[in-house]
Amino acid sequence: MKANFWIPSSKLAIAILLLIVSWSVTVAQETQPNTVLFENVRLFDGKSAQLSGPTNVLVRANKIEKISTAPIPVDRSAATQIVNGGGRTLMPGLIDMHWHTMFVRPTPVQLFSEDFGYLTLMAGAEATDTLMRGFTTVRDVGGPSFGLKQAIDGAIVVGPRIYPSGAVITITSGHGDFRKPFEVPRVPGAPLSRQEVTGVAMVADSPDEVRVRVREQLMLGASHIKLTAGGGVASPNSPLDASTFTEAELRAAVEAAENWGTYLTVHAYTPVSIQRAIAAGVKCIEHGHLMDESSAKLMAEKGIWLSTQVFPAELGNAFPPGSEERAKFEEVFAGTDRTYKLARKYNIKTAWGTDIIFSQALAQKQGALLASLTQWYTPAEALIMATATNAQLLTLSGKRNPYPGKLGVIEEGALADLLLVDGDPIANIQLVADPKKNFVVIMKDGKIYKNTTAPSAMTSR
Ligand SMILES: [Zn+2]
Repeated sequence: MKANFWIPSSKLAIAILLLIVSWSVTVAQETQPNTVLFENVRLFDGKSAQLSGPTNVLVRANKIEKISTAPIPVDRSAATQIVNGGGRTLMPGLIDMHWHTMFVRPTPVQLFSEDFGYLTLMAGAEATDTLMRGFTTVRDVGGPSFGLKQAIDGAIVVGPRIYPSGAVITITSGHGDFRKPFEVPRVPGAPLSRQEVTGVAMVADSPDEVRVRVREQLMLGASHIKLTAGGGVASPNSPLDASTFTEAELRAAVEAAENWGTYLTVHAYTPVSIQRAIAAGVKCIEHGHLMDESSAKLMAEKGIWLSTQVFPAELGNAFPPGSEERAKFEEVFAGTDRTYKLARKYNIKTAWGTDIIFSQALAQKQGALLASLTQWYTPAEALIMATATNAQLLTLSGKRNPYPGKLGVIEEGALADLLLVDGDPIANIQLVADPKKNFVVIMKDGKIYKNTTAPSAMTSR
């Protein structure tokens, strides 16, 4: 990634911190054997609503090699770490499909004023916490997460797999345009705004500009592209009812993404913005909280994904009572129940993500927000959504998928992102709301990042 928005001093600060972090991570990883055997676990495999009977699972390198109810003989040629499951549940790592890696911890003021090195380190610390909540994969739908992704993949920082979209692409005054009135009018050829220089959001006001901005994100390594097709809650100048991009602009983005083998997803609440996006060839709608019967029907007919969430009520407190943002929040919040009912009624392909921004405290409720889906779904349905179903949407990235291999399931040959849960999450989904206590093993890509089971035997039998 070209981190051309970093000033040298922040680069140095990052380098020093990363050196320290990388030393401890490397030590941890070097002492781990190449194979791990989970003995006596019951499987929630990401697909079935029933737990399996007692089972053994062998992980070699970063993949699940063997699943068997019979004892699995241990490889004689390599040291194997044995995890005694004690009848606990082994499940796929959780996936959050609407995450903003770089925006979770800072306040909006910090995001647009602090040194970007500081913001990146903040995001790195949050990424570690995210993995420790059992989220082994996040789909980032807006923000400059490329550098952090690179650091995580390179074992410099501990964190989840990141599917990055890069900057949110918006129109002048659209959702994600956080410029202040004094920054208007935009003068052709003038320097980019702060939000653009940092890669937070790019403004594009014609099909040609859209193509440029989309292709830039693809060049930086985007696995998918995100546009805001309608107004949003947190943006100061974007009314909720506004449809922002024209169909021609949306079509330009779809074409540029698809030419690159991947897809476009759009932020859209209202029926008009949903329908226009679908007409332009968009494959996935984020949120959809104000959809109606006809837009729900259209989504089902065309096989369009809905990636949505329950917003936490506390999020409303971020906006002062009586403010325009607060009114917008309340309108969207009230639409959640209808949207989930429509999604069920028309059997829309539905993914789940949290969209937590600007609050470290709320981020700690990531698992609790998943559990709150039981207002509309059985615990098994909610867990299947946050694992195998979410992983199915990730495959729309095609060859731009940064982590080829199966995610979200426990299957032979799948990538080894696994959680050992102290209890049965299908019987008690609240277990995922307290990951510190209940996730006793957290494994990503075959590596154990947490293990609080009894000291396990190491064998080279
Ligand atoms: Zn979002």
